[in-house]
Amino acid sequence: MTELIRGRVLRYHADPFSVGPDAAQLTEALVIDKGSIVAVGAADALQRAYPGARITDYGTCLISAGFVDAHAHYPQSAIIASWGKQLIDWLNTYTFPEEMRFSNISYANEVAKRTFDLTLSNGTTSVCSYCTIQPESVDAFFSAAAARNQRVWAGKTCMDRNAPSALLDTAQSAYDDSARLLGSWHGRGRASYVITPRFSPTSTPDQLSALGALWAEHPKCLMQTHLSEQVDEISWMRALFPSARDYLDTYEAHGLLGAGGIYGHAVHLEPRERARLAEVDASLIHCPTSNTFIGSGLFDMAGLKAEGLRVGLATDTGGGSSFSMLRTMAGAYEVAQLRGHALHPSQLWWLATAGSAKALHADHQIGNIAPGLEADLVIIDLQSTPAIAQATARADDIWQAVFPTIMMGDDRAIRDVRVAGVSHKPQVSPKSQPSG
Ligand SMILES: [Zn+2]
Repeated sequence: MTELIRGRVLRYHADPFSVGPDAAQLTEALVIDKGSIVAVGAADALQRAYPGARITDYGTCLISAGFVDAHAHYPQSAIIASWGKQLIDWLNTYTFPEEMRFSNISYANEVAKRTFDLTLSNGTTSVCSYCTIQPESVDAFFSAAAARNQRVWAGKTCMDRNAPSALLDTAQSAYDDSARLLGSWHGRGRASYVITPRFSPTSTPDQLSALGALWAEHPKCLMQTHLSEQVDEISWMRALFPSARDYLDTYEAHGLLGAGGIYGHAVHLEPRERARLAEVDASLIHCPTSNTFIGSGLFDMAGLKAEGLRVGLATDTGGGSSFSMLRTMAGAYEVAQLRGHALHPSQLWWLATAGSAKALHADHQIGNIAPGLEADLVIIDLQSTPAIAQATARADDIWQAVFPTIMMGDDRAIRDVRVAGVSHKPQVSPKSQPSG
């Protein structure tokens, strides 16, 4: 059924880091049909062109592409906001014990469903997630996404050292499991498999090489991992890889550097790493609430964007402290301010939509509002709380009206979510809370 959707429709014709805030334009309406956007423009003209379309009017709400969370750990949903640890202690104290539970497929299914309930209710229509070492965790994630028809990315997280024995595979089993899961899920519906070594400290050179070989056999797949998140982690990496030139070299030497490489955090990069990442057109994923919550450091958004790197935005739940990409945009603003740079709201919104889609090489499918793209949308109430409404009332332009929602908004600002055109804003019920 053809539907004409009215509101304040926000679309980008370029990267606002390159051309400024005017890269975004507002228009009045879009038309969707069979899950895709077929037209965008003035409401009267679209009504004349599509006289039989059902009309949905969201009034003064902002209509945007759905948010794209480019780096998350769905198995860590239940340990979000755990207190008092930095990266290595965080993994040992909270992450690894929780990830061991995912050998139980019913627990994996429960957490996967809950994660999609939480992310959708925050306006996130696409997630790129790590799973756990257990293949069941991958099946649970992709099954839950398929039930909602969401465009998602994920992979089995491979580790063959420096983790509890129940969470270790081997170079061969990491290759075999990943290859089998890739065959099962990659390109099935809206799912994409991502080759996923957790990070160099938990993979032997043999395992990194095995996954590099798998990537070479499937060059259209993305490969995700972590890079230079914390200073202590970098020291650990240096002890484990004494001949590596730098952290990136531990991946580069094993076939894990390339254009489809998605590197999370990248807080403490060396000049050679920055140059190589730009040269191969790799993607960096900024996880601001995680970087402050776990005490990692301040990502150089302005510098890395100026060097031409692809940069996406992500929650990194549960190391990140929120499922909301609004809160994540606020975190990116705060981190950039601490580096002396004020990101424009147009840039923040772009990062959470088109920027993340571009970082995942999916900007021809999602992340913007244009004919031919999939109709993944978020509809935002820009007056969702009294505090936001009174600030927005003073706004002279759209970005002054949007910025209070970026800084103070949460799931109350999400009026509706469309996944391939279908309205889908589930409520998180008490029944879907952890079973303990
Ligand atoms: Zn992560």
